[in-house]
Amino acid sequence: MMEQAEKILMQYYGYSSFRPGQEEAIEQVMNGQNTLAVMPTGGGKSLCYQIPGLAIEGTAVVISPLISLMKDQVDALLSYGVAATYINSSLTAEEQRTRLRDMEKGRYSFIYVAPERFETPSFLSAVSRIPLSLIAFDEAHCISQWGHDFRPSYRSIVPTLNKIPNLPVLMALTATATQEVVADIKQLIHVENGHVINTGFARENLAFRIVKGRDKREFITEYMSQVPNESGIIYTATRKEADQLHYVLEKKGYAAGRYHAGMTEHQRKQAQMDFVQDETKVMVATNAFGMGIDKSNVRYVIHYAMPMNIESYYQEAGRAGRDGEPGDCILLFASKDINLQKFLIDQSPSEEKKKEEYAKLQAMTNYCHTHTCLQKYILEYFNDPVPYERCGKCSNCTHNGEVEDRTKEAQMVLSCVKRMGGGFGAGLTAKVLKGSRDQKVKQFGFHKLSTYGIMPKITEKELTQFIHFLTAEGYLTAGSGKYPSLQLTSEAAAVLKGEKPVEMLVETAAVQQSSEYHV
Ligand code: ADP
Repeated sequence: MMEQAEKILMQYYGYSSFRPGQEEAIEQVMNGQNTLAVMPTGGGKSLCYQIPGLAIEGTAVVISPLISLMKDQVDALLSYGVAATYINSSLTAEEQRTRLRDMEKGRYSFIYVAPERFETPSFLSAVSRIPLSLIAFDEAHCISQWGHDFRPSYRSIVPTLNKIPNLPVLMALTATATQEVVADIKQLIHVENGHVINTGFARENLAFRIVKGRDKREFITEYMSQVPNESGIIYTATRKEADQLHYVLEKKGYAAGRYHAGMTEHQRKQAQMDFVQDETKVMVATNAFGMGIDKSNVRYVIHYAMPMNIESYYQEAGRAGRDGEPGDCILLFASKDINLQKFLIDQSPSEEKKKEEYAKLQAMTNYCHTHTCLQKYILEYFNDPVPYERCGKCSNCTHNGEVEDRTKEAQMVLSCVKRMGGGFGAGLTAKVLKGSRDQKVKQFGFHKLSTYGIMPKITEKELTQFIHFLTAEGYLTAGSGKYPSLQLTSEAAAVLKGEKPVEMLVETAAVQQSSEYHV
């Protein structure tokens, strides 16, 4: 059976060997076992359902969340000489009917549809009458309400599946699944324990970097002048920012493209094509750009502002280096950017959802403040096995500063948080430690605490940074509300008792000559 799979791999795609996880996934599906494949972006998920789809008799139905994604996949299959098509709202009603009829005649090996289409009576009756090879859920994290792109119709089609008399093997594929999402998908589409394939999230060719306190535009132009011929994506948080940055880069003579949901479909298509064909080198875009874009030689992804959660960040940053060659993933951090994300979270009508999103935003913020290996931080976030303590590539691993003991300072901060009774943010805590005469400090009576003014020599800004660092390292939690409210963790107790040292990476100051040597 696997011989047949290898033959297809060579014959259609021209590849001689499988990537990690592909062979196992293909074998399971060909054995009729429902399968969930979790593989990083660029891991080669498409082949995992396409090869069984080609090997097994009948039509494969692929559920896909986006029209552009369907088109890309269908175009790729057609270029390999495979009969594939999509049925979606980009077609006239007449064309949709024609394709549905052709499907019933068994003319297609692959048919791509959105979940909403799958549920329509006409589609259901058509698929019920033909032999099916498999049903694949692409971007399967959309199924789960724990996923970051939850799409209710992805979930509601699950009961519909039972109405199909000739239900074939089911497959789900995704690049971003936390344990909750994995558990949810498994239960929904009946994947047995041993049939989840998870190749791990680690992307060893990527170098993660946090850049703080720099003028963002200046950083970008400086960075780009070093890699003028490489392809890259710059993600902005808003359309306006994308327009402005695009304007600046074009003025500086860069072949820059632009992509966001405020442009017409024609403009977006053109921009995408120019980028994929290397007519433009850098794409300035909002998060509307990316899903399903098969461009493997993207060398850098810069985030002009912090995204809302690690899931989005890792998915977007992961578009760098899909060919396995080195890629840079740079996040330009400014603390004021957090406010925009809070504003967006506040738009949600559900209190529970808001709470969840705030917790995710806090994890994203912690990523920007942590001093541990950034790749490790991400893997731990996804509960993925961490193959190393240090990736050796990220800005924390390559930091040329020194590790300094900050246990004493940490104890001061932690005992201050404790005395304040919990429930306040980093800013106010910093004021208390500094000994500020701020009205709020007085109002709560914090000027009477024994920790009031015990760190007078450090600026309030540095103190705030240090508190963020302690939060990122897990000594404090910031809670899951809109306004951070600091509380001590069990780790903090160990620090306060002097059982655990706190170390921090600091820039090496110019070596100061001690006068002692001269006397
Ligand atoms: P994903 O959907 O997981 O992000 P794709 O399926 O788009 O990844 O595959 C990413 C790239 O890797 C594509 O260009 C694909 O042709 C290529 N690829 C997939 N499998 C293999 C393989 N076994 N050998 C070489 N290249 C592969």
